[in-house]
Amino acid sequence: MELITNKIFLEHDTGNHPENKSRLLCYPAIQEKPIPNGEQYLELIHPREYLQFVKDVCGRGQSFDQDTVTSPGTWAAATAAAAAAVMASESNDFALVRPPGHHAYRMRPSGFCIFNNIAIATEYQRRQGKKVFILDFDGHWGDGTADIFLEDNDVLYTSLHQFPAFPGGGWAEEIGSGKGKGYSVNVPLPVASGDDVFFKGLDVILQAARAFDPDVVAVSAGFDAHQADPLLELNLSTKAYYRVGELLRNNFPNVFAVLEGGYNVKVLSSCIDNFLAGINGRSAIGGEQPTHSTALVQEEFERRISRLLSAHKGFKLL
Ligand SMILES: [Zn+2]
Repeated sequence: MELITNKIFLEHDTGNHPENKSRLLCYPAIQEKPIPNGEQYLELIHPREYLQFVKDVCGRGQSFDQDTVTSPGTWAAATAAAAAAVMASESNDFALVRPPGHHAYRMRPSGFCIFNNIAIATEYQRRQGKKVFILDFDGHWGDGTADIFLEDNDVLYTSLHQFPAFPGGGWAEEIGSGKGKGYSVNVPLPVASGDDVFFKGLDVILQAARAFDPDVVAVSAGFDAHQADPLLELNLSTKAYYRVGELLRNNFPNVFAVLEGGYNVKVLSSCIDNFLAGINGRSAIGGEQPTHSTALVQEEFERRISRLLSAHKGFKLL
């Protein structure tokens, strides 16, 4: 797995917003890859009238809401992010892009996200007859992605995220609906969760994923669950991202990833490099040790996992 990136992602100018271009500037030496025009892929998920609305707002450099801002360069960056996600899905690579995507709904931007990059790449794969397992380990619940695939049984949406936190939801009992019932696995992590409970949650997700038997794994790779992230209160180490990569490597042949959050620019590249080292079978980088949760956090986590397992009882995957 290699990084796919391009300077065009810096053209989404958000000033001193937490999601700003310094997030990608931590990779100054990385080689750019040419990225095709992404407009051709947007309608895989987003209706045409939504695209026109976004284009108009970006053209004026206005904000969609308090969190989700644009500049005149945003349209070019956001469409390229979707294209890079599709490219990554074809070559099992990591799309290092911005703006992120997993809070974006079919018809609504939200939480720094405009187009749902991982959903676009997932739909692109699905139209080639592939079953896709989405692993969203960003510390926020990917409400947009979850909503887009809520009723599908050929896409398994899974997420580990802090609860309570933005955007709300992602509760253990949310298991999908219609024929998609049982095909959403949401693991809400208590505040101050460390590596130990995170991996217990990931074990449950991987059990469901093995039963699902995907052709492709799509990773919404956000790194804001790291202990030094300013936006959330989870306590993952960089070593955790290494282990996630290793587990994916050991379980699934086809994996691609798209950057979501991660707002401490001092540790973001170390988190990403560890994930890549794990998935590429290299040694871990840096000296952060695995983190542990208090007894109270562990007890609350166990209660949530019991609720998740009872909600899924009788459905196919758990
Ligand atoms: Zn996030």
